[in-house]
Amino acid sequence: MRNWFKPDQDPKQVLRLRRFLMGVSYYGIWLAIIGLMTLQGSMHLPTPFLTVALTGAIISNLVFFALLRSGMNLQLRDPSMTFSQLVVGLSWAMVLLVMTYEVRDLLLLAYISPVFFGMFKLDQKGFIRLGVFAWVGYLAVTGLDYWMQPGQVDTAYQLLRLFVVAAMLFWTGYFSLHVARLKGRLRKQTRELEVMVAEATELSERDDLTKAYNRRFIMDSLEVEKTRANRSGIPFSICILDLDNFKLINDRFGHLAGDRVLTAFAERARSELRGLDVMGRSENGAWFGRYGGEEFIILFPNTSLLGARNCVERIRHVTANTAFEEVLRVTVSGGVTEYRIGEDVEDTLRRADQAMYDAKNGGRNQIECAGELGSTHVPSDFGSQVVVGLFGKGKAIPAK
Ligand code: GH3
Ligand code: MG
Ligand code: MG
Repeated sequence: MRNWFKPDQDPKQVLRLRRFLMGVSYYGIWLAIIGLMTLQGSMHLPTPFLTVALTGAIISNLVFFALLRSGMNLQLRDPSMTFSQLVVGLSWAMVLLVMTYEVRDLLLLAYISPVFFGMFKLDQKGFIRLGVFAWVGYLAVTGLDYWMQPGQVDTAYQLLRLFVVAAMLFWTGYFSLHVARLKGRLRKQTRELEVMVAEATELSERDDLTKAYNRRFIMDSLEVEKTRANRSGIPFSICILDLDNFKLINDRFGHLAGDRVLTAFAERARSELRGLDVMGRSENGAWFGRYGGEEFIILFPNTSLLGARNCVERIRHVTANTAFEEVLRVTVSGGVTEYRIGEDVEDTLRRADQAMYDAKNGGRNQIECAGELGSTHVPSDFGSQVVVGLFGKGKAIPAK
């Protein structure tokens, strides 16, 4: 059962409801005017007329309220129902104007004021349609005067009022349209600014050459992961990768070729990480960053040493078997370790670094682990390939 008074989940619907309530205050103004003028004696509305007008206004607002709260307004072309609410409001105001010939001048300002409301939603066409509706409506009221007040109507004064109403409608419409356009421009600029901030954030997090995350971003992420791991008790793993004999590549093929290798390696590694399901977590389960020079770092959140090791082994294998343009063959060595609950990130990094140097000393093109590999389940989609196929080919990885 729907709770009609519980706030909506959709912020746009909340805003629409708030504007609807603002619109209801327009009826409040009319009620106050009628009440005060009746008390003061300048207005004498027949009770049956007042009853019909009041009931009608209440019913029409209840309909708008029901449409908003049931969500049926979402099926409409304009879910805010701004134009229809304004037309209904103006119509009830017209009905009152018909009955208040003597004091009508006092009511003209109240009659015109809802046009300002159009600034929330209406465009130029909407304002023109609303202005024409309000003025033609007022013209009809004026015409009815000749029937309701036979022989008492001052035509010159009626024409003057028609002109005043037209001028005021034009001015309020023009002003509101201007504000509506300013609002639209502001919204567009805000959206552009959001895109720019997102781009700037992305730039500040990335390494210029390889587009991998930069060191600062990775270090910050490590701190975040450390806090999470300490809270949840589930460790993360990291791997430091270093391209083998990179100085030789630079010396033989030039620095620019070296740059291209770094970029191609980063791209390759990232696509491997995207494609792999690291211990049951899919895409973007790991953060790949440039640690400095030809060294890279991978952060595997909520991942055991075994899961991380298998993934890195895959990267090592793919790298060794990829042809890198003019350089052809490039290999990589890596050190993997698991965060130990409570320790500093520096200690984790030092262990991974040491494991990476062990891999270098062990002959390069291999991955070393610092820590117990444990008996964690190896994900089926790459586990068997990695453990049997890759490790079979390369050097067996000792658990330390
Ligand atoms: P090892 O197998 O022991 O890692 O040997 P290595 O030659 O890779 O080791 P070393 O750390 O001595 O050399 C790294 C080289 O990487 C030196 C440096 O000129 C090069 N390098 C670092 N950053 C860049 C870069 O942005 N572009 C290029 N082209 N080379 C870089
Ligand atoms: Mg190095
Ligand atoms: Mg190196």
